[in-house]
Amino acid sequence: LLSLAGATVRFGGRAVLDAVDLDVAEHQVVCVLGPSGSGKSTLLRAVAGLQPLDGGRVVLDGRDQTGVPAHRREVGLMFQDHQLFPQRDVGGNVAFGLRMRGASRAEQEARVGELLDLVGLPGAARRAVAALSGGEQQRVALARALAPRPRLLMLDEPLGQLDRSLRERLVVELRELFGRLGTTVLAVTHDQGEAFALADRVVVMRDGRIAQSGTPLEVWQRPADAFVARFLGFDN
Ligand code: ATP
Ligand code: MG
Repeated sequence: LLSLAGATVRFGGRAVLDAVDLDVAEHQVVCVLGPSGSGKSTLLRAVAGLQPLDGGRVVLDGRDQTGVPAHRREVGLMFQDHQLFPQRDVGGNVAFGLRMRGASRAEQEARVGELLDLVGLPGAARRAVAALSGGEQQRVALARALAPRPRLLMLDEPLGQLDRSLRERLVVELRELFGRLGTTVLAVTHDQGEAFALADRVVVMRDGRIAQSGTPLEVWQRPADAFVARFLGFDN
């Protein structure tokens, strides 16, 4: 479904994405791990069309996305800092992508109700986003990204601000949900437990490159190098 070939992004001469090759098959859940600054968010932004490439290409569904603007790409992105629209209520935020695609008011309302149930905020449609906790805002952002049923759902630290018990519950729910909907997912996380629980495949990034890519078991049992081993918390 998604293919990156030699994808490169430079900031001030430094390659933040350094000729990255990555393939994500339909229905696959891929988790990107890596230290802060290794280029994880830049990778998602490049796929979403929010960050132009300095080299290489992004191909979605066999179509080169070069020159395709963000709003025409069939991807959903949940941002690391969720970036909700503060002047709209919860329902207005969740319905945003549906409105952009011309869904009727009735369709929007039904889908908003369904999604708020799903993320554990039933009946919250008319609440002001400013009055929500960080974790509740994160769940609204997740509902907003899921709303238009994107071909590829990209999540940047989707559970970052939630407490551990809620994270653990949501990871199980997400895994079940993605399986049921057949959603293709590219998710960034700092939490390897989360990555290993969610992912069919784990990608470990270092300095804009992919240090290792494999099933959670492969990466866990055979880290590709000392960096990956250290990152996973092994001493040798
Ligand atoms: P984190 O885990 O902290 O979110 P990350 O892996 O998502 O980190 P990125 O946000 O992709 O990292 O950033 C990678 C590098 O690119 C960082 O060194 C960052 O400072 C730099 N960078 C990102 N965006 C820009 C920008 N717009 N201008 C200049 N440098 C940038
Ligand atoms: Mg980031």
